Amino acid sequence: MRREWRTAEGSWEDLARALRRIDGRGYPAYKDLVGAWHGDADRTLFLDHVQGDPFAAPSRVRFRMGQRRAGFPSELYSNPVRAVALRDYLARAFARVCDEFGSRRGSGKSGLIQGALVGQAILERAAIVVDSGFVEARFWIGLPARGRRISGVQAEQMLLDDIPRIADLALRYACFEPDHIRRHIDTAEDAEHLRAELDAQGWVAFVADGAILPRRSGIDERPMPRSEAIAFSSPPSLRREVDLPHAGRVTGMAIPTGVTVIVGGGFHGKSTLLQALQHGVYNHVPGDGRELVVTHAGAMKIRAEEGRSVAGVDISPFINNLPLERPTTAFYTENASGSTSQATNIMEALEAGADLLLLDEDTSATNFMIRDHRMQELIAKAREPITPFVDKVRQLYEELGVSTILVMGGSGDYFDIADRVIALDNYCVEDVTLRAKAIALKHRQERASEGGARFGRLSARIPVAASLDPSHGRRAVKIRAHGTRSIQFGQDEIDLSSVEQLVEDGQADAIGQALNYVRTRWMRDERTIAELMDELQNLMDREGLDAFACPAHPNWVRFRTLEWAAALNRLRSLNTVSADPRVVHRSRFR
Ligand code: ADP
Ligand code: MG
Repeated sequence: MRREWRTAEGSWEDLARALRRIDGRGYPAYKDLVGAWHGDADRTLFLDHVQGDPFAAPSRVRFRMGQRRAGFPSELYSNPVRAVALRDYLARAFARVCDEFGSRRGSGKSGLIQGALVGQAILERAAIVVDSGFVEARFWIGLPARGRRISGVQAEQMLLDDIPRIADLALRYACFEPDHIRRHIDTAEDAEHLRAELDAQGWVAFVADGAILPRRSGIDERPMPRSEAIAFSSPPSLRREVDLPHAGRVTGMAIPTGVTVIVGGGFHGKSTLLQALQHGVYNHVPGDGRELVVTHAGAMKIRAEEGRSVAGVDISPFINNLPLERPTTAFYTENASGSTSQATNIMEALEAGADLLLLDEDTSATNFMIRDHRMQELIAKAREPITPFVDKVRQLYEELGVSTILVMGGSGDYFDIADRVIALDNYCVEDVTLRAKAIALKHRQERASEGGARFGRLSARIPVAASLDPSHGRRAVKIRAHGTRSIQFGQDEIDLSSVEQLVEDGQADAIGQALNYVRTRWMRDERTIAELMDELQNLMDREGLDAFACPAHPNWVRFRTLEWAAALNRLRSLNTVSADPRVVHRSRFR
């Protein structure tokens, strides 16, 4: 049986008295303090969740300060983009100040004060809420104990001295350099403006001149120091100008819709460019180097993902005639191969409404990408289940309006079908389209196209609700992310290590919650994945992350519904039924 706690309410003096009263008692007595505690000057401390013991995951609290004291001018949060950027800015400031204040105050996590972790992107964060009435920070604390006994005096100091002081240092406008806040917000607003410009101009991505694309290391997303990095410089043929509200006129490389192939020698920066593009669906903080590297919101990185499970995806546009007559119009497997997993990832992305695919040869299955003339002669089409991507990529664009940007340094077979070919040479970009086309003419393809007349069927699946029940007997549902690598969803472990556009742990956490939310509320075995995505998008636009639990946990971060669908699709227990197969592709991101 779970005990229900009546929530307490009172003044800070009441809280102080209560803490003195429970000093020295067993740790669970802290639970009596769950509730709202009001201070003077429009300040409230909420204890939302109290940890089970000093060594358990820390307690969740909120501190709310009225705008009369916080004093943020309303123009800093007057539209959703600004509000998200201001919240992101304050989440960073709050976490920084917490780091200075937290101190050991006894056993286990006693004395810990911790804000949410943040990365390089400006994201909607549950950690801070701002509106015209108040600013609220959500964070974790370790309630102090000696052994397993409550340290009431220490707790009083922490809750009623330290935390209000932290709030005064991190939640008041007067504490900040106004220009510094503005720059954060303006940077987000410019990036958002640039992303809107993509659609208006028929582009899918823009990389500003001067951008710093390489990162510090494979495990450090901060920019490579400017002294080492070669700044981006656009080739004249693709150079375009854009006027932005704050940065003014900027120039850079505009990549139009269609098929774009990135070539170049090994280690010359191809994957680095593609990675910058895949993260260009997010806005980045000032100083990141990718502030004006922006990609269409419906971009999906596609890769091979050997071993993943697949639940009823129609992969017949790419894969047919598998051994043992395994059907590919509703393909099921517990263990996909490189090529079938990559075909699945594309078909799922299309089902979800993605309209820009990003592929890198480094993470692709060779036999999915190319099949040359010699191989066609040796292995007849009838004995090769795979139709290579090179024969489908134009149909994707011409029939479905889905563009592709792909890195392919190892084969010239894409020269014929590319709209443009850009080369990286010592980290500098060159437009080599004309040369590539001339070469394609000179060495005419002997290979026959295998793509057929049409792209083929798209899948539209309805998830079977019962197949994703995370509950285990009568115990509480356990949903928990492990970084961005995986989500534990009840008995299942969802592997997200190949879902490359998840950038923060808090996104994976929130996706886990959203899976369960959608399952319990909307899955009635009649709505398709795409329809569920639309509802989820609307819900989050209306209510933010508080939709999944109010208040949302401090670490939750807004995610794209594309990644939500990607997580659903990787749930090994997932079962689906096919909806009307005559679906047409519809972008959800324009
Ligand atoms: P490729 O995919 O062409 O083999 P990568 O993109 O993996 O090459 O880049 C190779 C190395 O060069 C990486 O260590 C990367 O950090 C570094 N690098 C990439 N772009 C730049 C740049 N503009 N300036 C300096 N170093 C870079
Ligand atoms: Mg590479």
